[in-house]
Amino acid sequence: MRLELKQELRQTRESVNVLISFELDPWEGITDSQRTIESSQTLKQTVLEYYHIGANFCMVCRSASKVVNAHIWPVHSRGKGLEYIGLDPSHLNDARNVLRLCKSIEVAFDKKEVMIIADGDQFILIVLNPKLMDEPVEGTPFKFKDCHKYPLQFCHRNPPVYPFRRLLAIHAHQAICNAVKHNWPCDYSEPMLALETVKNLLGKSVLGDARDKVMGFLDRGNLAL
Ligand SMILES: [Zn+2]
Repeated sequence: MRLELKQELRQTRESVNVLISFELDPWEGITDSQRTIESSQTLKQTVLEYYHIGANFCMVCRSASKVVNAHIWPVHSRGKGLEYIGLDPSHLNDARNVLRLCKSIEVAFDKKEVMIIADGDQFILIVLNPKLMDEPVEGTPFKFKDCHKYPLQFCHRNPPVYPFRRLLAIHAHQAICNAVKHNWPCDYSEPMLALETVKNLLGKSVLGDARDKVMGFLDRGNLAL
């Protein structure tokens, strides 16, 4: 009897872990049809006002012609999973879950081919898929290699306005796992460095409990590197 109970508990725990890992990696299996072709004008306006930037400003390339609302936690998740990290589904369309990026960079972000990490006081873009390096960033004179390790620009306001760092941290973690899976050369794939990368992003978070929640989930076996 006790053994059966143990087995049942283990099975339950496994299915919960699968569910959690799916919800904490909503970028996995994202398809083109699920990608937002055009975000609402209202959200765009909210995001531009929050970050205090113009419509043609890409946070990586600066002036560009194909800049879109790039959700960090993707729209197709409908906000599922956010409750595990101290947010709720309504935060899906919060300006802090949205970056303004060139369409090419947004697509690469969703595919975990690029990630955004913290470097001192700045956030920088890291290109993980080596095949992307020579690809053009549409609407700009740049290639992806020109954007590699390039700092994102946020308006200097007091207090400063930033995106949800905990969501960038989870994305970075999953992007590093994805780079390892594909054997992409990655300076951050060594487990200690990967953890450091996540912690650096969270270190900027003002909410200590959010940090604990994210670390708690990433510590679970099937999410760790
Ligand atoms: Zn750009």
